[in-house]
Amino acid sequence: MRFAEQWNWCTVDSIRDVTPTIREFLLRPDSGHVAPYPAGSHIGVAILIDEQPARRSYSLVGDHNPSLYRIAVRLAQDSRGGSRGMWNLQPGTRIETSSPACLLDIDWNKQNYCLIAGGIGITPITAIASALHRRNIDLRLHYAVKSRGDAAYLGELSSVLGDRLIVHASDQGARIDLDATFRALPSDTIAIMCGPMRMLEAARRAWNDAGRAPADLRYETFGSSGLLPTAEFRVRLKDCDTELVVSPNSSMLDVLNDAGFEVISDCQRGECGVCAVDVIAVDGEIDHRDVFFSDQQKKDNRKICPCVSRAIGVVTIDTLYRPETLPGR
Ligand SMILES: Cc1cc2nc3c(=O)[nH]c(=O)nc-3n(C[C@H](O)[C@H](O)[C@H](O)COP(=O)(O)OP(=O)(O)OC[C@H]3O[C@@H](n4cnc5c(N)ncnc54)[C@H](O)[C@@H]3O)c2cc1C
Repeated sequence: MRFAEQWNWCTVDSIRDVTPTIREFLLRPDSGHVAPYPAGSHIGVAILIDEQPARRSYSLVGDHNPSLYRIAVRLAQDSRGGSRGMWNLQPGTRIETSSPACLLDIDWNKQNYCLIAGGIGITPITAIASALHRRNIDLRLHYAVKSRGDAAYLGELSSVLGDRLIVHASDQGARIDLDATFRALPSDTIAIMCGPMRMLEAARRAWNDAGRAPADLRYETFGSSGLLPTAEFRVRLKDCDTELVVSPNSSMLDVLNDAGFEVISDCQRGECGVCAVDVIAVDGEIDHRDVFFSDQQKKDNRKICPCVSRAIGVVTIDTLYRPETLPGR
C-alpha cells in the first residue's frame, strides 16, 4: 500500500524511558497542529544511519493529541542503527516526519474485538484499545511480553481496560494460548494483532484452525523482523560466475545494485513487491521477511523480495540480466 506522503519538520519536545529498552518521544510539528488520523496509524521519521539518509516508521501511541506526535522506540540490538539513531535524539533536536498513515484496515462496526500485542507491537494497539473503549465496544487485550518490566504502558492500559487487559509474561511461565483464545471468541469477533513475525504466523494458524474468516484477523508487523537470525549469506547469479556476499548490515537489494546488477525497487519495506526476483536454487534456507507474498508463495520459494528478505547459506537468483549485459563483459 502506498501513500501520498507529506514531510514536515518537528522538534523533539520531550523524551522518557517507558521500559529499559523502550523510549518514548513527543514530537511537536512546526505547524503547531496534528490533524486527526485513524487509530493504529504510524509516521515516517527521517534519520541518518552512518551519515546516510534513511527512514523508519513508528506507530502513534494512545489518543490523538492535537499538538504532538507520541511515539515509542524499542532499541533494536540486531539492527542497522535506526532505533539507535532515535535513541540518540535529545530534546530540542529537529527531525523530519511524514504525515500519519494507517496500514490497518479496521472495521469499527463490530460488537467484539480481540487485541493481541507482542512486545513493542503494543504501540498501535494502545490507540486502537482506547478508540474502542471510547465507543463502548467490548474488547480484550492480550499483551505478550518477556517480563512485566518489559511491558510498556501497563499503567495507562490497565486504567482504561481493567481486567480486560491480560498480560502474558513469559518469565512467569505465562504464554498466550492462541487456540483456546480464538475458539472462545464470539463468532463476529475481529482480532487485531501487532507483534513479531513468529507470533503472527502462530496467530494465523490458530485463527484458521478455529475456522475463522481470514479477513477477520487484521495484523501489522514492523517490517523486517524475520524468523531466522540476521547473518551473512551468499547470492549467486544465474548463468554467471559471480557470487556476492550479503553482510548482516546490508540488504540483498543494496548488494546487487552496488555490484551493478540493477534491481528496481520502490517501498524497500517488503510491501510493494516491485523488487521481487526469481529464485533458481537454495542451498540453505530463505527467510521471507516481506508482507507482499502469500504463505503459499513463500513456501514455494520461487521469488524473493531482496529489499528485506534474507537467507542462511547460498541463494541462486535470476535478476533477468543476460550474459551480454553483465557488468564487465
Ligand atoms: C508500520 C510500522 C510501524 C512501526 N512502529 C514501530 C514502533 O512503534 N516502535 C518501534 O520500536 N518500531 C516500530 N517499527 C519498526 C521501526 O520502523 C524500525 O524498523 C525499528 O526501529 C528498527 O530499526 P533499526 O534501524 O534499528 O533496525 P533495522 O536495521 O531496520 O532492523 C530491524 C530488524 O531487521 C533485521 N535486519 C537487520 N539488518 C537487516 C537487513 N540488512 N535487511 C533486512 N533485515 C535486517 C534484524 O532482525 C532487526 O532486528 C515500525 C515499523 C513499521 C513498518
